[in-house]
Amino acid sequence: TPPAASPGSPALPPSASSPSSPPPPRSAPSAPAPAPPQSPAPPTPPPPPPWRTTPAATRSSPTSTSRPSTASSPRTSAPGDPRAPRPPRGRAGAAGEGRGAGVGEARPPARAHRRQARRRLERRRPPQGRQGLRRPPRRRRGRTARESEVLPEAGAEQAYLRGLQRHQEFFRLGQPQRRPQACRRRGQIKDAVLGGVALEDEQREKFNQIQQELEKLSEKFSENVLDATKKFEKLITDKKEIDGLPASALGLAAQTAVSKGHENASAENGPWMITLDAPSFMAVMQHAKNRALREEVYRAYLTRASSGDLDNTDIISQILKLRLEKAKLLGYKNFAEVSMARKMATVDRVQELLEKIRAASWDHAVQDMEDLKAFVKDSGSAEANDLAHWDLNFWSERLRESKYDIDEEGLRPYFALPKVMDGLFSLANKLFGITVEAADGLAPVWNSDVKFYCVKDSSNSPVAYFYFDPYSRPSEKRGGAWMNVVFSRSSVLARHGSSVRLPVAHMVCNQMPPVGDKPSLMTFREVETVFHEFGHALQHMLTRQDEAFVAGISGIEWDAVELPSQFMENWCYHKNTLLSIAKHYETGEPLPEEIYAKLVAAKNFRAGTFSLRQIRFASVDMELHTTYDPSGPVSVYDVDRRVAEKTQVLAPLPEDRFLCGFSHIFAGGYAAGYYSYKWAEVLSADAFSAFEDVGLDNEKAIEETGRRFRETVLALGGGKSPLEVFVAFRGRE
Ligand SMILES: [Zn+2]
Repeated sequence: TPPAASPGSPALPPSASSPSSPPPPRSAPSAPAPAPPQSPAPPTPPPPPPWRTTPAATRSSPTSTSRPSTASSPRTSAPGDPRAPRPPRGRAGAAGEGRGAGVGEARPPARAHRRQARRRLERRRPPQGRQGLRRPPRRRRGRTARESEVLPEAGAEQAYLRGLQRHQEFFRLGQPQRRPQACRRRGQIKDAVLGGVALEDEQREKFNQIQQELEKLSEKFSENVLDATKKFEKLITDKKEIDGLPASALGLAAQTAVSKGHENASAENGPWMITLDAPSFMAVMQHAKNRALREEVYRAYLTRASSGDLDNTDIISQILKLRLEKAKLLGYKNFAEVSMARKMATVDRVQELLEKIRAASWDHAVQDMEDLKAFVKDSGSAEANDLAHWDLNFWSERLRESKYDIDEEGLRPYFALPKVMDGLFSLANKLFGITVEAADGLAPVWNSDVKFYCVKDSSNSPVAYFYFDPYSRPSEKRGGAWMNVVFSRSSVLARHGSSVRLPVAHMVCNQMPPVGDKPSLMTFREVETVFHEFGHALQHMLTRQDEAFVAGISGIEWDAVELPSQFMENWCYHKNTLLSIAKHYETGEPLPEEIYAKLVAAKNFRAGTFSLRQIRFASVDMELHTTYDPSGPVSVYDVDRRVAEKTQVLAPLPEDRFLCGFSHIFAGGYAAGYYSYKWAEVLSADAFSAFEDVGLDNEKAIEETGRRFRETVLALGGGKSPLEVFVAFRGRE
């Protein structure tokens, strides 16, 4: 669940797809995000992390990687910011368990494990100590003690002792085994240093003051954005004025009107209330034929929180000043260096990458604009002569409908869940040499829909297990899709008689349940989603690290964690892979070739434009946190304008104040981190290109490349820097 715009829906910039609920990289299975506006609608609130996230994903544990439905969950954590949860990976807990297991419903087994550990502790503590150990009761979802048959925690006591022993040996062991521990420790120390622990008295006090001040300012920033968003209301009584809006949007507008006191409002007869909330705003930008209305709403959106009581201008400059001061206290040149201290990227590399993509996207974006103009002209509209920002979304929606519209619902019969899973597993077999077998009954499950699988290597020995909870259950399960860690691979926690505790993952989707004899039928997006989450699960399960701290997805830098997941998505567009999966569930008829071609074309529709849009956000973020002097004469708007001129085919409006609503970087965890979206996308595309280079239909070469991917990206976890891992796979940076 993350930000990188996924292939399907190009980079959804912050505000892109949905102003108030930020667009995740791609939309979720259950609720596809609206297509992003292509003109600079300012980014908004909650920052979608680079891995996908669900609206409710906020509740999920840091070790979970989920993807959002239409809104991404604001993981408002700044990587360097100790108080906020860190994005993808969690800090491994004491025992290297994905602790943070804060996970709601997602990880039953870990809870039982903690329960056991607690009982052990309780036995040793005096009675009064107990109170403190007890946690508030949580909803329990099905795990029983019998699970320990698969999940080695029976005999945990001995395992613990054995682990201790092994640990003692561990420190006498040679380099390779020690690296993970050392790395981990370096990471912890770095976190602590970034949190100011190394500072002396006065400086430390100063540092703490800055932190507190920054917190307040960020809070104020997002309050202003929210209030400014709420403030705009436009009541429409004449149906002609909102011609073009789909029924669902009219219904929403009428409902909003009712909530504002127009009791008799109805979708059919109005009145209708338009607001700047994402669904309302997007509906107008994409569908309202009334150009004046689009302009009015667009301008209001673009200038949110930029004047009067709710003006964020001054807050932005205070935030930038304090961040710079904080960076200097910590011994860094600027805030971007602080942000990058715990990421895969460096400032120079990010700048280089952004410029490279910008240059490569430019001509395509210019072409997109030409195509759009030609289309508008052909449609006979006078708007063709002076296309403005508020026209772009509207017309590109019409263009998309005319050329690439895919009837998502109509494709469902081609994607039956069992067939899709078979295809996915046989792809994993081809690439990584693993076999996935149903293991229902081996472990108890919390709902009869939940499936349990065993993953075996080429010698037929189990290497991992995973749960798969595929169907939507609205009353008890949140929307979206995600992958969670149940257990990490660990030698310390190995069960008696075995050398390692095998990893267990947990994949969750929200698809239509089967009805009668009809299997669960999926949309293409849902197919991509399953591939995506399985990519995360593979990295968790195929790890070769025996230290839970760095096994699987644990300890991986947040700008690298989406690599395997997005990598897997690419296979959905590989013709042979897709066509082997997509067979009509009743007739067995394969997906028609022209539909396959449309899926590919839709993926690339206006890709240059979307790409530039993300580059604009990432570049302005980088500039403000590197070279910009917040105490100097140049305003943040000047910086933004300069960037926009290089990244927008249509020059920005002079009153463009999108920065005042850029919550990702001023109120979320994306300060000097917005680039992560692109970074992850590039990494995964580059990894996939290793397969293209050897020829996607060259079985032998694909197998070799797949094995190398397994032994590097999927195996090394957080024990090695992601750049080293990538080089080990790709043979270059
Ligand atoms: Zn993800």
